[in-house]
Amino acid sequence: MTNTPRKLPILKIAIPVPLRQLFDYLPPNTEVAQQPRPGMRVLVPFGNHNQKKIGVIVSISEESDYPIEKLKQAYAYLDKEPLFSLTLLDLILWASRYYQCPLGEVFEAALPNRLRKNAKEKPLKKPVKLNALELNPTFLEKKEITTIEPPKFTLNSAQREAVTAVQNSFGKFKTFVLDGVTGSGKTEVYLQIAARLVETGQQALVLVPEIGLTPQLVKRFEERFSVPIAVLNSSLSEKKRFEAWENARTGIAPIVIGTRLAAFVPLKSPGVFIIDEEHDSSFKQQDGFRYHARDLLIMRASLEKCPILLGSATPSLETLHNIHLGRFQHLKLPLRAGNASVPVLQVLDIRHKKLEAGMSAQLIVKMREHLTEKGQILLFLNRRGFAPQLMCFSCGWVAQCKNCDARMTLHYKLQQLHCHHCETVIPLYPECPSCNYKDLKPIGVGTERLETALQKHFPNETIIRIDRDTTRKKDSFKETIDCIRNNEASILLGTQMIAKGHHFPNVTLVAILDIDQALFSIDFRSLEKMGQLITQVAGRSGRAERKGQVILQTCHPENPLLKKVLEEGYLSFANALLQERRATRLPPYSYQVLMRSEANTLDRALNFLSSIKQQYFQSTTTKFKLLGPIPAPMERRLGKYRAQLLFQAPERNFIQKWLQHIVPQIEAEAQTKRIRWSLDVDPIDMY
Ligand code: ADP
Ligand code: ZN
Ligand code: ZN
Repeated sequence: MTNTPRKLPILKIAIPVPLRQLFDYLPPNTEVAQQPRPGMRVLVPFGNHNQKKIGVIVSISEESDYPIEKLKQAYAYLDKEPLFSLTLLDLILWASRYYQCPLGEVFEAALPNRLRKNAKEKPLKKPVKLNALELNPTFLEKKEITTIEPPKFTLNSAQREAVTAVQNSFGKFKTFVLDGVTGSGKTEVYLQIAARLVETGQQALVLVPEIGLTPQLVKRFEERFSVPIAVLNSSLSEKKRFEAWENARTGIAPIVIGTRLAAFVPLKSPGVFIIDEEHDSSFKQQDGFRYHARDLLIMRASLEKCPILLGSATPSLETLHNIHLGRFQHLKLPLRAGNASVPVLQVLDIRHKKLEAGMSAQLIVKMREHLTEKGQILLFLNRRGFAPQLMCFSCGWVAQCKNCDARMTLHYKLQQLHCHHCETVIPLYPECPSCNYKDLKPIGVGTERLETALQKHFPNETIIRIDRDTTRKKDSFKETIDCIRNNEASILLGTQMIAKGHHFPNVTLVAILDIDQALFSIDFRSLEKMGQLITQVAGRSGRAERKGQVILQTCHPENPLLKKVLEEGYLSFANALLQERRATRLPPYSYQVLMRSEANTLDRALNFLSSIKQQYFQSTTTKFKLLGPIPAPMERRLGKYRAQLLFQAPERNFIQKWLQHIVPQIEAEAQTKRIRWSLDVDPIDMY
């Protein structure tokens, strides 16, 4: 080192490999002297065979823990300018630490494929033309914003207050919760906040659970604004996603709408973040890099110093808890916008009642009444397929997936059995494989069976089924939604896909066929989800001038929590649940990390977790509550045995410190290399 003429900077680079470290490189030889800057991509030789990899410079240092002469030299810088701001880099570093995910893998989520895979791909020199630009060519030159179609109404006072509160916080970090039932005008509030922000030349980022399920939200923005809107979601082609990403990064698109992965999109001048349906579980990524886009975006808002608005008719318990602690400001929209009225909720006791495809006789009578009055009907059943079980009535055999601990679902029209956990599909057995009895019987009801029964009862009505099976084709969901809105169908049935924020103005009757599973689930979050579902589904009815009715079929009409959500509404139900969580020390009154393992035998999966528990929890057991190791609720999936160990502690910091300390040690151990294991920080699903 003594005779180095000039001290070369050392590049600390994140490389997409599953290792929790940065890699040190020397700068490339470039023809033109180019300054390396954090956030730029570089092409580097990696591993023994000098495989070419694309990495991102995270920092530049004068020192390395390795001898300089051992460091490899990067091949080339791939960008002239950083793709990520220092703030966004901070967020990415934080996410990697907090969720215990190798930095290279976090960058994989943060970069579009094109920039990740192809060293020749350059950031776009010129902004991509979007349709909206053609509509309004003055935008690019003069930055003139025109709203194409201003609303024909004035905001009500609650809406006005919400818009003003967020607007007054432009340039500052603050978290707001916009709490209003479906139809109370939340989307209108988003639109008006965005309108005021965009005038200042800044950008609004709007996250939605699933774009495919919310085409109307994108449409409302497109109808309102003549500025370019970048839409980011995973079903886009790589090219389209790359272009949308670039339009967000360069600031060409003042409005960016996307699913959870858009939480990482670079923005030239972020001004406000909005999360619609913040309680939705699809904001949590369930494999690989298991982040929660809502929590991440709140962190990002604090780093970028801008306000963030969480909208929901049914805020999550975590969010309500934060309101109670005074961390989030609660903005309420108590009334339905326009003059739509709140629906009447009614419980149908189905004890001792004969059900036909899940429907009681009383429900069918009610349906006839509504159809005579020309109302639309929406039936909700959260199970697709014809029947969740196929059983032999002679010997008791049940069709079971060969890879999972799960029964196979009968799909009648396809004459197939499907495993909904591993996607295994087999042809329907002509007879019992165990005793050759010919009469195999479907047990239970799925949406396909319900549809068949409805066709029999209402042969003259147009019936539409909405679930993953009927909407696989691209755009078919959107077409179906349009068809419902245009009143071309009178009976709609479907799974939770129809529970999201759609506006069906002619629906007058909504029925939830089976609410009871949720009341007795082993998952402590299932009651919260039940209350959200009832409230969301009820919100589908009576949105325009017609009064709506909601019917819940249950065998537990006296259940106190069910009564609470029906009689007092979601907030008081949720507060009661929070009391329970506090008493039992469950989140949000504690923090959890779930460690999962997977092996060829259950013993191996369990033994691995037992040894972790023994090695690392002797001294800390008083602060931690440990649950397990136990077999996962679904013990075998995709042919592997699964086990889990749950850590719970009263403080987030405590869990975090412990993880930083322990994970590298666990990883260095020989046994961990022979087993698949993962960590889920703040898990929301224990399966
Ligand atoms: P949410 O997002 O809460 O479901 P929306 O913003 O979609 O509610 O509003 C529901 C309907 O009411 C929409 O058709 C919207 O245009 C209309 N609307 C919103 N605010 C008002 C208002 N202040 N006066 C009249 N109509 C309104
Ligand atoms: Zn049999
Ligand atoms: Zn399976």
